[in-house]
Amino acid sequence: MAGDAISNGAHVFLNEPALTLDSKPGGYLITTPHYNVTAKKLVIAVPKVGFNKIGGNIAEAIKDQKQFKDLVGIPVATIAQRWPNEWWHNIGYAGKDIHRIWTTEHCFNFTEIPVAQYAAQQLVTRTVYTDKEECVEFWQRTAQLGIKAVEAEIDRGLHDVLPQATIPQPLNTVVKIWPAAWYWLRGGSQFTNADIAAWAIEPLPGKQVSLVGESYNPQRSGWSDGAYKSSINTLNAKYGMHIVIPATANIKPVANANPASVTSAHPTGR
Ligand SMILES: Cc1cc2nc3c(=O)[nH]c(=O)nc-3n(C[C@H](O)[C@H](O)[C@H](O)COP(=O)(O)OP(=O)(O)OC[C@H]3O[C@@H](n4cnc5c(N)ncnc54)[C@H](O)[C@@H]3O)c2cc1C
Repeated sequence: MAGDAISNGAHVFLNEPALTLDSKPGGYLITTPHYNVTAKKLVIAVPKVGFNKIGGNIAEAIKDQKQFKDLVGIPVATIAQRWPNEWWHNIGYAGKDIHRIWTTEHCFNFTEIPVAQYAAQQLVTRTVYTDKEECVEFWQRTAQLGIKAVEAEIDRGLHDVLPQATIPQPLNTVVKIWPAAWYWLRGGSQFTNADIAAWAIEPLPGKQVSLVGESYNPQRSGWSDGAYKSSINTLNAKYGMHIVIPATANIKPVANANPASVTSAHPTGR
């Protein structure tokens, strides 16, 4: 995507965070550590947590809006581990090919073992994946005690769930705390998800400024789907495009279906 953008004349500056966004006669001024950039229109793709660090009258005017204040970032902890062997092939359930371990009994919560060959060959698992607030705090505090404490705690959790597995000492363990992995709309908000999506197209009425990204389109929260759709909304409304968002066909009701057997079609994996 970056390559396509550059070949169409875009410039990409990976190490130049926007520091301020201000209005100026005829447009806008963006400052970064090394540049002053002027623009006639602004499309801001910085999620709320990062946006809070940006100053200037345009940024402040957006931060003052109730819609912006009602967006809530959800913290997530992920811990990746590299192993000396594929210990998960023999964890006490002969004939079962297990690649997902899910529990609420221990704060590792969810373990993903790669299925795709290129990832599986690296012998890396995402051993911890949690968006439970108390568990994210737990891993944050455990990481402060050092990586050995993290490894010991994971080992304890995995052995509780897989008592027959032979789990070796990991070769590497990497803890990542995401302060806002994805965004929800605050409980009790006066706005709907659709209101937020419409607001983000022009948060400052009459100004050529749009907000795009998952944090400004909480419908289908947490998925890149929200980010794509938010961009499409702005491109269609402000940049003369006519991109149709594909939709799944309505599910036909099954005649005489037993209501008790109808389950939600919501995917839960990520
Ligand atoms: C652990 C985890 C697993 C996930 N798994 C999935 C999945 O399986 N499937 C899925 O669909 N989605 C998944 N998601 C969600 C997906 O990653 C997000 O929905 C998507 O990245 C949102 O895109 P975005 O463009 O809105 O924001 P981001 O991808 O967060 O991009 C925002 C960018 O803004 C930059 N930025 C911040 N501040 C500034 C500044 N001042 N100036 C300039 N730039 C700035 C950041 O560096 C970042 O590059 C996952 C998220 C997490 C955290």
